[in-house]
Amino acid sequence: MAVGTFIPTPKHIAIKKAIVNIHSSDNYCFQYSVLAGMNVVSINSNCHKDQAGVYKPFVHLLNIDGIQSPVPISSIGKFESQNPDISVNVFYHDGDQIVPIHTLTFTDRRKHHVTLLMITDNHERFHYLSVQSMSRLVASQVKSKYKCYVCHYCLYPFRKEDQLKQHTIMCQQHQSQQIIYPTPGKDDVLKFTKIHYQFPVPFVIYADFECFLGEE
Ligand SMILES: [Zn+2]
Repeated sequence: MAVGTFIPTPKHIAIKKAIVNIHSSDNYCFQYSVLAGMNVVSINSNCHKDQAGVYKPFVHLLNIDGIQSPVPISSIGKFESQNPDISVNVFYHDGDQIVPIHTLTFTDRRKHHVTLLMITDNHERFHYLSVQSMSRLVASQVKSKYKCYVCHYCLYPFRKEDQLKQHTIMCQQHQSQQIIYPTPGKDDVLKFTKIHYQFPVPFVIYADFECFLGEE
């Protein structure tokens, strides 16, 4: 994919009020979004949270030696090695679903944990947004009205934080994945169709148990 400059937030994502899309004319959307996730800007500056100028004085906090900008997904592991206080996980918005594409096992165990959403446009450019609320971002995807605790590895929402912690211990042992629910009326009935995979049997007995009923 080509270099990423600013791409507007898709409307159905913006309406969730879960992300900050930082306006910039350079290729540092990854750096700005990471700094936004680290909350380097005080709450009083909330109204400017989407302006690159707010984050520029803090870029030196990140070690991006040897990493090109915009930062490709393949370099995020290197970024995490060079910045041992920061963990980053990235979701990709494919136009319909949000899917995890970079989540490592130390997610949430570092001083700063940031979540980014990658979006693309028709010109194959990519752009990072800072995710401020996982709950709000995936709430409509899972049709939940309440605040939920979302697994970074599979996006499954839990009502209680303890449930998420227990689940994460096992879930993080696998690659990132996305649960896709069946669509009512389309693929919500499972049927056995591979008749030809059945083993042939030498005989079959059909028993009608009604024949054992005694006479009244
Ligand atoms: Zn999970």
